[in-house]
Amino acid sequence: MKRFYHPIDMRSRKAMTDFLTKHFRYFTANSWNGSQSYACNLKITRLGLDSGIVEKLFDMIQVQEFFYGIKDLINEFDSEHNYLWQAGMNGRSGGYLVLYQGTATVSEYKSFCTACGQKNYKSVKENGNICGRCKAPSRIDVTTPSLNISVYPGRGTDDGEDFEDWNIDDIRARVRLVQELDKLADSIVDYALDCANNYTVEDEEIFIPQTQKVLVPIA
Ligand SMILES: [Zn+2]
Repeated sequence: MKRFYHPIDMRSRKAMTDFLTKHFRYFTANSWNGSQSYACNLKITRLGLDSGIVEKLFDMIQVQEFFYGIKDLINEFDSEHNYLWQAGMNGRSGGYLVLYQGTATVSEYKSFCTACGQKNYKSVKENGNICGRCKAPSRIDVTTPSLNISVYPGRGTDDGEDFEDWNIDDIRARVRLVQELDKLADSIVDYALDCANNYTVEDEEIFIPQTQKVLVPIA
C-alpha cells in the first residue's frame, strides 16, 4: 500500500531540495492555465491496494456521505494553516489532492436573519431586528465573527523553483508544509480504508413528492 509521507533529513539542503523539486505536482486550475503546485495522486487504482478493496472503494465514491469525512480532514488542514494554505481536490474525476494558496479575513457583518439567513452590516441595536429581505423580526447579532475564506485557484506554488537562493530555514519550512500535505493524503487514504472495511453501500429507496404540469381544458 502506498504511503505519501516520508521522513526527510532536515539538516541536508540537498535532501530537502530534492524532495521539493521531485515531489509530484498537479495543475491548480486546468492544463491550459499551466500553474502547478505540490500534489498527491489519490486515484483509487494508484494506491497499491488489492482488488477487493479497490472494488469496495469504487462503491464508496458513489455515496455523498463518504466525502463528508474527507472534507473534515481537509478543513482541519486549512484551518491549521490559517487558510493561507489550503488543500483541494482537482482533476477530471477529482483524483488529485493539490496544495492551494488562499486567504481568510474576518467577516464584517454584525447581524443576520435567523429566518432567511440574510447578513447585515449593522447590529440589531443600530437598526432593529426586522430583516430587510424577508421582513421577519428575526435578526440577531453575530456572537462569533465568521471568516470569509477564499482560494487562489490559478496561483501555482514553486513552479520552476530551484531553491538555490532560498535560505535553509525557508526551505525547511516549505518541506514541512509539503510533508503535512503528504500526511493529509495518508489520513484520507486511512479514512477511506476504514469506511471500506466497516461499511457496505446499499440502495435505499426514497420517495420524493413531485409537482408536474398538466393540461387542463379551459372551462
Ligand atoms: Zn430574513
